[in-house]
Amino acid sequence: MNKRIFLSPPHMGGAELDCIRQAFASNYVAPAGPQLQAFEQAFADATGIPHCLAVSSGTAAMHLALRHLGVGPGDIVLASTLTFMGSVSPAHFLGAELVFVDCVPESWNMDPARLEEAVKTCLRQGRKPAAVIPTDIYGQCADYDAIEAICQEYGVPMVTDAAESLGALYKGRSAGRAGRAAVFSFNGNKIITTSGGGMLASEDEELIAHCRKLSQQAREDAPYYEHEEIGYNYRMSNIVAAIGLGQLQVLPERVRRKREICNIYQEALGETPGVRLMPEAAYGTHSRWLTVGLFDPVTFGATPEEIRLALEAENIESRPVWKPMHLQPVFRRMGYGCVGGDVAAGLFEQGLCLPSGTSMDDRDLQRVIAIVRRASRN
Ligand SMILES: *Cc1c(COP(=O)(O)O)cnc(C)c1O
Repeated sequence: MNKRIFLSPPHMGGAELDCIRQAFASNYVAPAGPQLQAFEQAFADATGIPHCLAVSSGTAAMHLALRHLGVGPGDIVLASTLTFMGSVSPAHFLGAELVFVDCVPESWNMDPARLEEAVKTCLRQGRKPAAVIPTDIYGQCADYDAIEAICQEYGVPMVTDAAESLGALYKGRSAGRAGRAAVFSFNGNKIITTSGGGMLASEDEELIAHCRKLSQQAREDAPYYEHEEIGYNYRMSNIVAAIGLGQLQVLPERVRRKREICNIYQEALGETPGVRLMPEAAYGTHSRWLTVGLFDPVTFGATPEEIRLALEAENIESRPVWKPMHLQPVFRRMGYGCVGGDVAAGLFEQGLCLPSGTSMDDRDLQRVIAIVRRASRN
């Protein structure tokens, strides 16, 4: 059996172990410590977002941001339907209801026109949305300016889910530099990983200061344990931050290789009838965290599931596109609506995320491509 090719496995750069050793040597085997501070600072430098809070996951970062914005029972939160559960479950943790918004085919990200429709519908019901969460899907920024303009017009705060888009650009600025705050993830399959972790980043110093407090059980500034509100235990540990410090050094190289992998897929499959790769919007630079293809079963001659099984038979991991949130049984049971939804549903039906690991060599990649091609009956 060939060595397994994973979808997007961790890829260490080499400096991570040294950073961990330094953390050990200083005995900061604790949540706080110099590596943690340095990681937050290096992340701020890399993204240009001045205030950063490292936490235990991207989901935790979203929870803190929504909590700071006052999201609570009876509120409505608007969110991209084409996303991962961790983007929207925090709204539910806080007792809010969700209304989902479809995406546009040009970028696969939140449709600003649908968003405005959703906001207006809520307003007609006398319920101003408490937050809007656009997700930057698969490494491509949402149309920040268009979405932010709507949020500003109606006075609704925006929290950007940039969990998948670190390293991408929107009109020359870093992914996540939009809205009141942005959420990043360092889960094992993301473009850089700390084995697990997240970052909340914002221009707003007070927002980060409050979320920092909330992430540490909301302990007040007193020598004893004093609490004015309830918090969480969400801080990133200093050891984990040390991995992040090493990983940040190789982020530009990871983006370069991710884009190169996508180009190789494009050259090999782009002209094949019935195959289209996820488009890159004119306003930005896609990080190509994952290369995703759309396969028309009739024209191409195989369904995405048949291709997935053909790859799996050769010990290669691929994955369907995110199942839209408005189709998730748990949210259907709650009766959550979606403004539009057919675009996202179509992407789920025809999409397949192809192996995009930066440690994969060109021979591995050619193997993957050959199997995809052979899966076609045409
Ligand atoms: C990975 C991811 C998250 C959650 O991050 P975790 O660190 O796994 O909690 C949130 N949103 C999106 C779109 C993601 O892909």
